[in-house]
Amino acid sequence: MTSTRHDGDTWDLASSVGTTATAAAAARAIATREDRSLINDPFAEPLVRAVGIDLLTRLASGEEPPGELVARAAIDVAKVRTKFYDDFFLDATKAGVTQVVILASGLDSRAYRLPWPAGTVVYELDQPQVVEFKTRTLTELGAEPTADRRVAAVDLRDDWPAVLRAAGFDPARPTAWSAEGLLGYLPPEAQDRLLDTITELSAPGSRVATESRPTPKPGDEDKTKENLDRLSERWRAQGFDPDMAKLRYFGERNEAAPYLTGLGWTLTGSTVRDLLTAINLPPLEEDDLRMGGVRYVSGVLGQPGN
Ligand code: SAM
Repeated sequence: MTSTRHDGDTWDLASSVGTTATAAAAARAIATREDRSLINDPFAEPLVRAVGIDLLTRLASGEEPPGELVARAAIDVAKVRTKFYDDFFLDATKAGVTQVVILASGLDSRAYRLPWPAGTVVYELDQPQVVEFKTRTLTELGAEPTADRRVAAVDLRDDWPAVLRAAGFDPARPTAWSAEGLLGYLPPEAQDRLLDTITELSAPGSRVATESRPTPKPGDEDKTKENLDRLSERWRAQGFDPDMAKLRYFGERNEAAPYLTGLGWTLTGSTVRDLLTAINLPPLEEDDLRMGGVRYVSGVLGQPGN
């Protein structure tokens, strides 16, 4: 069983919050097999295999069909989510941004698979055991970064800017920041602090992309927890015990998009529901985890043109 989250807790990719990164990569592996025109992450499957959670390896490799173990919605959301962040980075670098920071990089392989323009520096931040494992595994697989990749092994509830600067980050240069699949795993005040810090470290012309979950209606979060428990139960029966409902922080928190707007960012965004429609994927039939209303937002610091 997973213990409840607490300040200073740590993990690798097979424990606690780390398993969510491995599950996200498994969803990308399944999605890649289904439609390479939307998402092509050739590193997802070998990374999941290297972590060694048997159920996730079987799902990632296609040996085990997703069936009831992975919701259709989760696979389709992996497609739109990956495409959203890929497009965000490609647009930012096309506009001349050469400094990229991927917060909570998990098993994200963008630093190895996107066509970064020459001179792009990509910083990846995550827990020490997570970044070390990914670097080692991809090296062993013979993969080579397509940018100047630098890692900062750090807890994002701590003083991560010091570690980022020590890795070479230059706050005087415009940055493209992403926080993908991260915010719900931070306590509410740590989320605010993270968004404040991103803003403080952003030179004019910087960009940001993240997810903004609408404030839940009464009872919504209890339903989400029940559904996470049901999913965890199915996985437990297959020998994998992530206890998903214990990994996220529930309760009141600021919505990321209006919070960022209040800090001076000009954002645009679309809900997952709209993104699915835009690429002709079916609407979420069962939205047990309230994914459809999540907005993927991106934008620039200040008013466009200023
Ligand atoms: N962004 C990746 C992706 O989309 O595949 C990973 C998303 S995964 C759902 C959540 C990630 O957040 C994990 O890699 C986890 O280690 C990282 N994370 C959560 N809280 C963190 C913290 N306090 N410090 C560092 N990393 C954290």
